[in-house]
Amino acid sequence: MLKTQRKKANANLFAGYQDLFRCPLCSSEMKLVDLKSLICNNNHCYDLAKQGYVNMLSHALKTKYNRQMFASRRIICRNGLFDPMINKIKDLITAGATPRGEQLKILDAGCGEGSHLAMILEKITQNYTKQTKSEYSAARIWVDAIINPLDTRKWISAGIEAANHSPITDKFNLGIIQV
Ligand SMILES: [Zn+2]
Repeated sequence: MLKTQRKKANANLFAGYQDLFRCPLCSSEMKLVDLKSLICNNNHCYDLAKQGYVNMLSHALKTKYNRQMFASRRIICRNGLFDPMINKIKDLITAGATPRGEQLKILDAGCGEGSHLAMILEKITQNYTKQTKSEYSAARIWVDAIINPLDTRKWISAGIEAANHSPITDKFNLGIIQV
């Protein structure tokens, strides 16, 4: 993707979620102006960086972070130091997920190079994958039992026998099926 396209895509992403932001100085709502700055109701202005983030500090901050420190930080993250925090956030997000399919919005502020968010997403995905497996759903609610395929004939016979003993009901006449 070209730099200008990426910059525009990032700006549009901010535009779509500008309601999540509040000014760190006066707490008022913020709007994206000209696809390049987040500006609050009191005209405090924060420009979007070309890399796709917005720095909302009120003054420049000297940091000792360099490439080597980011690499070291990544190794520490990947080896479990932050797992309790990651798991807690994952649980909060999962509990906050709405069953009606509404979009859950999460603002990751002060996220560094994104390794925490990547791990949270990884855990949520693992959770989702686990819960959509047939064994999981069978154990929870949807299936009465898991049978040995060798016993299929026995179970079908039991089903036919049970149906054979049920009372005779009126014929079920279908109405219009709209597909
Ligand atoms: Zn403000």
